[in-house]
Amino acid sequence: MSIRHYYNDAYTTEFEATIIERLTNNDAPAVVLDGSYFYPASGGQPHDTGTIDGVNVIEVFVRESDQAVVHVLDGEVLADKVAAQIDWSRRLDHMQQHTGQHILSAAFAEIADALTIGFHLGTDACTIDLAIGRLDGGQIAGAAALANKVVWDNRPITSKFIPKSDISNYPLRKVPDIPGDELRLVIIEDFDYNACGGTHVRGSAEVGLIKINKVERVRGQVRVEFRCGQRALLDYAKKETIINQLASDLTCAMEDLPHNINGLRQELKLANKQLKKQGNLLLQMEAERLVEGAQQMATGGNLVVQVYDRRDANELRQLANTVARFGECVVILGAAGNPATVALARARSLEGDMNTLLQQILAQVDGTGGGSATFASGGGFKATVAELENLFSAVAL
Ligand SMILES: [Zn+2]
Repeated sequence: MSIRHYYNDAYTTEFEATIIERLTNNDAPAVVLDGSYFYPASGGQPHDTGTIDGVNVIEVFVRESDQAVVHVLDGEVLADKVAAQIDWSRRLDHMQQHTGQHILSAAFAEIADALTIGFHLGTDACTIDLAIGRLDGGQIAGAAALANKVVWDNRPITSKFIPKSDISNYPLRKVPDIPGDELRLVIIEDFDYNACGGTHVRGSAEVGLIKINKVERVRGQVRVEFRCGQRALLDYAKKETIINQLASDLTCAMEDLPHNINGLRQELKLANKQLKKQGNLLLQMEAERLVEGAQQMATGGNLVVQVYDRRDANELRQLANTVARFGECVVILGAAGNPATVALARARSLEGDMNTLLQQILAQVDGTGGGSATFASGGGFKATVAELENLFSAVAL
């Protein structure tokens, strides 16, 4: 039977133990100790890491059949009596997030009558899922304020095992469905009772800070993303770096950033509108020049054939349409490149099927595309200017 010392003491990081079983887990060596402070992954809290006799502990889990704590290693440990060490920074981080979760869940229950039905302690952020359809800004701010007040009160946090038959004596919001005759209660003085097997800080002030970062609706419930302690501090530092950089780039105070960025967006919108107008004018002028150089077709109407070296496909199509409309033309335009683009258009007053023409061209190069009798475009093949000119000259008009 391996004793789980972390239930009573979440702060010991160095201990000695005896290996009582050796096994393999997915081809990796693993051991069971007579007693362990290593926390096995459970209840939403990830497992501890550390070393046993200098060998890295890469995973810790509870074996279903007998509840033994299994330590998976990245190498063999030869001795039976071993010295173990737990990675304290990882453990403290988990304790801060986990305890913070208890406090935040209790705060949402008190402020919004919203019960926590899910908890995830991720490598970056933590989330709780609340059994409520929506939360308003006041409830979110109220829960955050209450949670942080409880942190700053530095309330003692203790744990104890009680017989399941005594549950009715405690104000538990939720009774977990777990095997055994006992429950472990985690008690935040004058604030919260929770049945939990995790590791927690001994005074609420050690959580440092509880910061709600995002609230969103997920499958009809509310998901609250938050960070506690050092994670909240690192997140603050990261955001401060970004904001300071933005304020420096825009040479303004942090408070003026939203206004200034909005101003920039409006300017950009206006500039884009202006650019589009100018672009259309240029295209019109270009179309006029192409029409001037058009050849007379035997069937009547004008023919414009032009090949460019790399040109935006949308622009090419727009140019073809403009020339066709403006000059009573049949227009065949190409842009060389990989892929190349071909655009064909004709004035409505003229005859001829542009899609048929396009298919004639594409058939020679294994390209793709389509369109109507008056406009068609395609591409999907590689061609130089000279190759496109050759292709076009072979088309039967
Ligand atoms: Zn807990």
